[in-house]
Amino acid sequence: MHSLSDALIFIDGEFKQADNGAMFDIINPWTGQIAGCAADAGTSDTTAAIASARHAFDKTNWKHDHAYRLEVMTRYAKLLREKRTELLQIARIEAGAAVGAGARAHIDGALDGMDDLIQCFNQVVFEEQRPNRTVNGTLNVRKVRHEPLGVVAAITPWNVPLYVNVGKVGAALLAGCTVILKPAPDTPKMASFMAEVAVAAGLPGGVFNVLPSSDPALVGEQLVASPLVDCISFTGSTAVGKHIMRQGAETMKRVFLELGGKSVNIVLDDAPDFTMAIASSMVVFHAGQGCAYPTRLLVPKSRYQEACAILQGAYAHFDSQWGDFEEPTCIMGPVISAKQRDRVMEYIRVGQEEGARLLTGGELRPDKGDGFFIAPTCFADVDNTMRIAREEIFGPVLVVIPFEDDEDAIRIANDSDYGLGGMVTSGDEARALRMAEQIEAGCISVNGGMSILGDLPFGGYKSSGIGREWGHEGIEEFLQTKAIAIAKHG
Ligand code: NAD
Repeated sequence: MHSLSDALIFIDGEFKQADNGAMFDIINPWTGQIAGCAADAGTSDTTAAIASARHAFDKTNWKHDHAYRLEVMTRYAKLLREKRTELLQIARIEAGAAVGAGARAHIDGALDGMDDLIQCFNQVVFEEQRPNRTVNGTLNVRKVRHEPLGVVAAITPWNVPLYVNVGKVGAALLAGCTVILKPAPDTPKMASFMAEVAVAAGLPGGVFNVLPSSDPALVGEQLVASPLVDCISFTGSTAVGKHIMRQGAETMKRVFLELGGKSVNIVLDDAPDFTMAIASSMVVFHAGQGCAYPTRLLVPKSRYQEACAILQGAYAHFDSQWGDFEEPTCIMGPVISAKQRDRVMEYIRVGQEEGARLLTGGELRPDKGDGFFIAPTCFADVDNTMRIAREEIFGPVLVVIPFEDDEDAIRIANDSDYGLGGMVTSGDEARALRMAEQIEAGCISVNGGMSILGDLPFGGYKSSGIGREWGHEGIEEFLQTKAIAIAKHG
């Protein structure tokens, strides 16, 4: 029941094993046990996928026929939705998603996002007439075309695999590009299963290709280096993003980067339901493995002790509500891997060493299962100069930072290398909005508004990335612009 069928390579419309026959294990984070196997793509498989995507872009009608693409992609979205149960099962077993998390970003958020992208397609302008202009006595008739970039390599992380894969693959295919998807080593099955559904939807061979690989860098490096790949759309850590940007410069690739975050949640002293605003700031959804998660809670000094008491109560109440594989309302399971567990535990050690006060959690929880379970953890008395306030932990760890006034809150919010998301809660909407406008980040929620949805652009300021996904902007990222002027002599 907790096993997955093989995650195969998908090239030119065909599923295959690696050329050298290599396979690698998929580990179930709930148990730490092997849940399945994936074909381990190597250099020759990558070369074949590039050739396949190149051919489909250069020699087929995919890039020209907008109506056909929309028809195929609409069918693809519908079939993905029909496979919700299978998609959720894969997210649970290979990504450690809890069932209740499936109803949000993991599955339903991704399926809704795919529908949103399809709706946004009609807002994309592929060709526009510009006003005629007489230059040196000659009339010029002019148009501007927005043409697909070409072959896109989508390199994705493990945290919410369907959501991130759809944001790239859906948008790039709608734009008229062809795609090679390179999933994280931890989550190959979601990508391979997306290819199975693509076949059923009638996506033409070569338009979409998938390369699972056990080596985190091997296939990605080859895709980045290849002159036959036009664009890298990467989601992952800032360190790898910077490396890809440097490597991509050699072939002047378009490089879009969705990177890490250390987003703020600012709860102001006049928040209408202060208790709810503080209690709901626990970093627990999918064990905190979300890039735009507001993991720095900024609380007014005047209500700081009260906020800490609310958090202690909320975490105590939550303790029995997480780590259950079967429970439909459960939103938090294990972290993805032993490596990630060790990384998060190291940050918890660093936080204590730096002098932050452990309000709750901080330990492993083997009572929840044999997998990679870390207790929901909250540090109080955190100073924004501490590493736990500056570096992305990507685990169930919240840090609480007191502030003096609105100006101080903005100063702390923006004193960060990152700038992905953020939240402001206040009884005075104008006050909250003023603060939202000053936060240096790509998407801000005011009083609980949903700033991350498939029809809104998503992306980072500063070290959180370059480019936007989702919305019509997310499709337009995969276009390049050409101006044509026709001289009308005589
Ligand atoms: P990662 O950077 O280690 O890996 C991301 C992807 O890049 C994986 O597919 C990996 O195999 C590949 N990769 C690794 N080294 C590479 C190289 N040298 N060349 C090419 N590809 C390479 O990140 P991760 O640990 O998989 O994911 C966690 C990170 O992702 C966090 O920092 C998180 O914030 C970020 N993330 C960002 C967003 C966003 O939209 N901003 C969304 C989800 C996750």
